[in-house]
Amino acid sequence: MSCLPETLCQSDEQIQVFLNKLQEAQTLVMMIMAVWGLIRRIAVRLLEEELSYRAHQPQCWPRCAKCGQFLRSKGFKKRQPRTLFGTIRWKRRVGYCPQGCRGSCRALLDERLGLRAYQRSSDELRRLGCALVVFVPFETAVRLLRQLTGIMLSADTLWRWTQEVGGQMMARVNQELKQLEQGAFPEQEAIEAGLEQSPLIIGADGVMVPFRPQPNIPKGKTQWREVKVGILARLKHGLTKTGHKTSCLAQRRLVAVLGCIDQFKPYLKLEALRQGVPQCRQVVWLSDGGRGFWRLFRQLLQPLGVIGILDFYHGAQNISKTAKHWLDGRTHQCRRWFERLRHQLRHGEEQKVISELSRLVDSKQLPEAAQKTMENLQIYLTIHQEHIQYEQFKQMGFPIGSGLVESACKWLVQQRFKGVGMRWSEAGFNCLLHMRLAWVNHRFDSHFPLMELPSTN
Ligand SMILES: [Zn+2]
Repeated sequence: MSCLPETLCQSDEQIQVFLNKLQEAQTLVMMIMAVWGLIRRIAVRLLEEELSYRAHQPQCWPRCAKCGQFLRSKGFKKRQPRTLFGTIRWKRRVGYCPQGCRGSCRALLDERLGLRAYQRSSDELRRLGCALVVFVPFETAVRLLRQLTGIMLSADTLWRWTQEVGGQMMARVNQELKQLEQGAFPEQEAIEAGLEQSPLIIGADGVMVPFRPQPNIPKGKTQWREVKVGILARLKHGLTKTGHKTSCLAQRRLVAVLGCIDQFKPYLKLEALRQGVPQCRQVVWLSDGGRGFWRLFRQLLQPLGVIGILDFYHGAQNISKTAKHWLDGRTHQCRRWFERLRHQLRHGEEQKVISELSRLVDSKQLPEAAQKTMENLQIYLTIHQEHIQYEQFKQMGFPIGSGLVESACKWLVQQRFKGVGMRWSEAGFNCLLHMRLAWVNHRFDSHFPLMELPSTN
């Protein structure tokens, strides 16, 4: 036996067990697994010894916050939180007020260690658990955590962490909203290198999520409620291997709210300010028609000089629908009319399209059903005439389809909240949503400072 194992053995019997396993291991994998257990055992021992040493250092008791008498030690009490290495155990002094004042009990070492009262798992373990829960169902997270660390937790524990951590994240955002209401702007986020000149794209969409009719009762008919999701991202242009131009969204930031457009508005505003919308050279709002999002654009973004673009495909689809109402959908005439208008719309002749529609509406020669659809289309395109200058938008390098932003919005909710059999309570949904938002917006780790593992290579 070499020198290191021998020294280790002398301090702990369990270490001998792992060393035996290592020596008997046939394959490399078996050796590694034996060492994994060994290292965790050593880590637990190291932590326990250090903590025990600190716990036995002399200490001065402070005064009771209520009566002013000095606290007195009632002796050493057990502490055993779960950590990334497993459960560690030590004893430390706990002080009480000699008068017996309520809430006077203090463990000074716990306070120095950053352990909260009744905290049963250390924060690096909570961080890992929460990070898993952002992406996978609770039961899967339990299994993954077991595989990654060997630590067995219950789904209920992960659920409790989600409520605590997600709740804190939610409170932080609400605090920022309150400050904004009082006129304090949020700190502007730095733009990633290489994206300084890229236009900022903003879009929004609604996604339906299944809820339980009553928070704690699994029974009853599922209630579908809409979550409003918004995205703010930089448009990054690139080239494919074959030399074709592509564009994608970079530095994506999402906002989401379970509620109506008016509840969504302050969240979008907060993020817009954080992304420096008023200072940005080019900001584009991309959306399909309706659902109140254009009202939001007019109230919030248009005054800041943001360019609005109505999804081209949505506009074209409306023309196609009208064509079918007016002319029999199967005829050449119908297809030619639709194709001509779509072409005109796409290539800078949107005013001609609007004039033609107006002429047709005024002629009063359309069949009754077609008259209404034609009128609706004419109103729709007239309202949006500033948002359908597709030729110009293309020349400026902007996308004219809103698919890119809408799929990013859908992903945020779809990927985690709409699994088979999933149904949410409002409180539970909001906690997990905020945790997920913090993750995708790269703000998750700021809730768990100094906990990134050093990378090895
Ligand atoms: Zn007291």
